[in-house]
Amino acid sequence: AALTEHVLGGASRFGTRTALIDAHTAEPTSYSALLTTVRQVRAGLADAGVGPGAVVALQVPNGAALPVLLHAALSLGAVVTPVGVLSSPQETRRQLAHSKASVLVTCSPGRPPDTPARTGLRTFTLTSPDAGHDFAGLRHDTPHPPVPPSCTGRGEDLALLPYSSGTTGHPKGVMLTHASLVAGMAAMAAAHRVAADETVLATGPFTHVYALQCALHPALRAGARTITLRRFDPALMLRLVERHAVTRVYLTPAVLAALAAAPGLVARYDLSALRLVVSASAPLGAAQHRRAEELLRAPVVEGFGMTETGNCTHIVPDAGPRAAGTVGPALPGTECRVVPLGGSAPAGPGRPGELQIRGPQTMAGYLADPAATAAALEPDGWLHTGDVGVLGPDGSLTLTGRLKELIKYKGYQVAPAELEDVLRTHPDVTDAAVVGVPDPAAGEIPKAYVVLGRATSLEAIQRHVADQVAPYKKIRLIEAVDRIPRSATGKILRHELASRD
Ligand code: ATP
Ligand code: MG
Repeated sequence: AALTEHVLGGASRFGTRTALIDAHTAEPTSYSALLTTVRQVRAGLADAGVGPGAVVALQVPNGAALPVLLHAALSLGAVVTPVGVLSSPQETRRQLAHSKASVLVTCSPGRPPDTPARTGLRTFTLTSPDAGHDFAGLRHDTPHPPVPPSCTGRGEDLALLPYSSGTTGHPKGVMLTHASLVAGMAAMAAAHRVAADETVLATGPFTHVYALQCALHPALRAGARTITLRRFDPALMLRLVERHAVTRVYLTPAVLAALAAAPGLVARYDLSALRLVVSASAPLGAAQHRRAEELLRAPVVEGFGMTETGNCTHIVPDAGPRAAGTVGPALPGTECRVVPLGGSAPAGPGRPGELQIRGPQTMAGYLADPAATAAALEPDGWLHTGDVGVLGPDGSLTLTGRLKELIKYKGYQVAPAELEDVLRTHPDVTDAAVVGVPDPAAGEIPKAYVVLGRATSLEAIQRHVADQVAPYKKIRLIEAVDRIPRSATGKILRHELASRD
């Protein structure tokens, strides 16, 4: 398949070099073992009836088994719908039914096999997310012969059917073709060059396009090593970076917040191999960015992307100057414009508006949802991101928030992310989230939820913010909480906070 060809086409020349290392067992998988296992599992999947156009659901934690299954299925011409291991049984059932999956591969230590058998759904349950087992009978001794070209996914064929994170509503099934995924990887490679001698670590799940397409696939293509981590834990992550001399880490601001809350822990590890830390998936903010660089003593760059683009569309290059708080320029071949809210003509630099993107990496549409597709994709290919941003004079993009999350205070629009960044600069605040709560006089008012590193006056925190922002952005209500609820992909679940009151 085109994506498999792009990712693993050159892998045979890497031979016995290590492709993957399991963070939890230290078990290495070489490139040659990876390729052999893909062909063995392809034989098993073919026997299970997987062929061109079949939808295979993979709900497997990070480990060597996931890329094996993914590329075995893709190279049979199948479409893979990745299911997060943290998805609830209800969300899982919905995705399996909506995607019309005919095969489900799950993993028993990852989640209980509580998905009821649907007619036409064959379930295979792995005993482990690594590659050293029989893949629930899907691994055949005789590797599948090279598939005839007609059976492999070609450019315009669907390859991946990931579901969006569901931050602003029900997760949507995003149709990504082989061509769009390959184009997204090629664009990323122009800005970030992973070398064969590098070691890569992603803190998030490979069932999300961020970890899969920004971290794992470029590393496999380069012949580099990837540490597969099932669950993020600050001490474990730091230990892995030290032990394996990790050069690139792909994480989210939530992970950086967890590390920043434990500076003593971070100081205990030798992180000197780190060349680059990439943050994406949620706003980082200039203040958190600077703190992260001081803490990790490594360059931190921010990227922006969405499930609908299959990869980052913007990223700060991995060499050269980096401004805190921006996600950098659009990648080569990617057009980007900012359209003022309520307007139709693109705005010039310095004026905020909705970010829109056009490029070869954008989705073909949402599965079985023509209304949502029409709302997101213009006939001429522009994709509405639902994010608000501003372009700088040099073309680099600064995101200010999501349209659906803007707080309407009197006639003003207040972006929660900006206030969260200011809140996190208070020495006693380890994490923060801001939501709009209904108010009879103002419409909505900004309310902050803060996690405190030590007991402190909440009024002092409000004053700290008021000193730094325009009066209409003041935090008018504040509450201390134990933790900020986040999705598996690192996004603040504001609706959960708002529904607490
Ligand atoms: P849903 O579309 O189902 O509501 P979601 O948009 O959160 O969920 P994803 O596709 O995983 O699902 O996330 C894409 C979104 O993540 C972007 O639209 C943007 O809001 C946010 N995002 C990604 N990177 C960044 C970043 N660097 N800064 C700010 N926001 C980011
Ligand atoms: Mg979205």
